[in-house]
Amino acid sequence: MIDLNKLTSLPWKPMYAQSSQETEATVTSTYAMALTILFTVFVFSFEHMLDERQALAYKSKEFPALLEQTVGKIDAEKKANPSQKEEKKDEASDDDKKKLDKDKPILPQLKEKFTKAQLYGTDKINFGMISSVYNLIESVGFLIIGFLPYTWDYSVKLGEAHFGYNEQDNEIKISLIFLLLTTILGTITALPFELYSTFQIEKKHGFNKQTLGLFFSDKVKSLILTCIIGGPFVAALLKIIKWGGENFYLYVWAFMFVFSAFMMTIVPVFVMPLFNKYEPLPDSDLKTRIYQLADRLKYPLTKLFVMDGSKRSSHSNAFMFGFGKNKRIVLFDTLMEQVDDDEILAILGHELGHWKLGHTLSQFVITQLYFGASFYGFSLCYGAHAADLYQAFGFDGVSRPIPTIIALLLFFQTIWAPIDKVLSFLVTLNTRRNEFAADRFSVDLGMSKKLQTGLCKISLENLGAMNPDPWYATYHYSHPPLVERLSAMMKLDKKQG
Ligand SMILES: [Zn+2]
Repeated sequence: MIDLNKLTSLPWKPMYAQSSQETEATVTSTYAMALTILFTVFVFSFEHMLDERQALAYKSKEFPALLEQTVGKIDAEKKANPSQKEEKKDEASDDDKKKLDKDKPILPQLKEKFTKAQLYGTDKINFGMISSVYNLIESVGFLIIGFLPYTWDYSVKLGEAHFGYNEQDNEIKISLIFLLLTTILGTITALPFELYSTFQIEKKHGFNKQTLGLFFSDKVKSLILTCIIGGPFVAALLKIIKWGGENFYLYVWAFMFVFSAFMMTIVPVFVMPLFNKYEPLPDSDLKTRIYQLADRLKYPLTKLFVMDGSKRSSHSNAFMFGFGKNKRIVLFDTLMEQVDDDEILAILGHELGHWKLGHTLSQFVITQLYFGASFYGFSLCYGAHAADLYQAFGFDGVSRPIPTIIALLLFFQTIWAPIDKVLSFLVTLNTRRNEFAADRFSVDLGMSKKLQTGLCKISLENLGAMNPDPWYATYHYSHPPLVERLSAMMKLDKKQG
């Protein structure tokens, strides 16, 4: 039998803790840290099991039968109904020849790339497993040594020594010192992993196009932006929590809403151009057709850009953004090289489907609800009545009231963490459902065949997983696996005759 008295006397405390007046031990102050560690290890083990399954799927040497069957059908149909471009083969100019290459049957190309895709997947998942082991050690290690109370006390000392701050009157300024220290440390510890991923894995598989110089200039820019935007944001957030009284979560919620809208406005205009060049798509048949498509769907397209994605990586993409009547579409230069005009239109049909079906708006609403729920939860655990929660992690909480930033961090790491895992999973499920719906939208516009071949080509060029593990895909994928999307579209084709 376990003697419960003995358990409560165990030092479930971090090695560094603020000296505090002895308060009576509660269940929370005794077990909160142990439970947090337990939960962290549990999540790690579960996700590690999924990683192992995915790694096993990547080891398969056999081309997945369902994909072969599905893409075989696409090729057969293409052969039966050749596009007009193929008919005028004889008079093909150089430009047309390039396009003809894009018209080759897809299945042989997929088969040819299968081994490559499996190796790329294997490298990525193995690397992912190593970095998650590191993350586990770091987060559990930080809890055990008392990283948070230590760094907080150190920030207080720095603030006192250099600026004459005192913990009670200058808490927000000390919080900013604390965040600066943890951000710098986080950037340094993440650096080896990012370097390895970019300059080993991505490079080895032919995706990386960036130089070390560009990599570091990106890093510096991001850090500066984090200070310029993140600093005032956190300061305002902390101020509102302190000033807002009992119902502070309502004010925080309103603030988060305004801040999200603000970010959505400034990011495309001021932030994105710091990292990439956005040039208007030159006048062309494609441009006219994209505007026609936007017109047909009543999408207020004001600007159409090509982005130099190839500066960093040969991975491809397309996206859209903007408020109200001022919307823009961005095509990666890499995408334009990989697929033909009809396929770009079909892909944009899918993207515009997200907008027309209200996915963009509903995602915004879901995010705002998430903020509301999490800050309401936080309001229940903030203040003197929850002192024993903070004590479990080495904070005094009584004679030195808990700093708001620490209370926030601990709340999200402990009580909110399991809720967040469940909610994130539900959001992922919903996102995948939306992908099918957007595909259906493009199909209804009559672009089914072109969306199918377009997606195949993107997957081909990006070495996308051809036979992902179903459990892994269910848990992690924001987009359904290629073969599922193709099958769903073919079913719709059949229905429509
Ligand atoms: Zn989509």
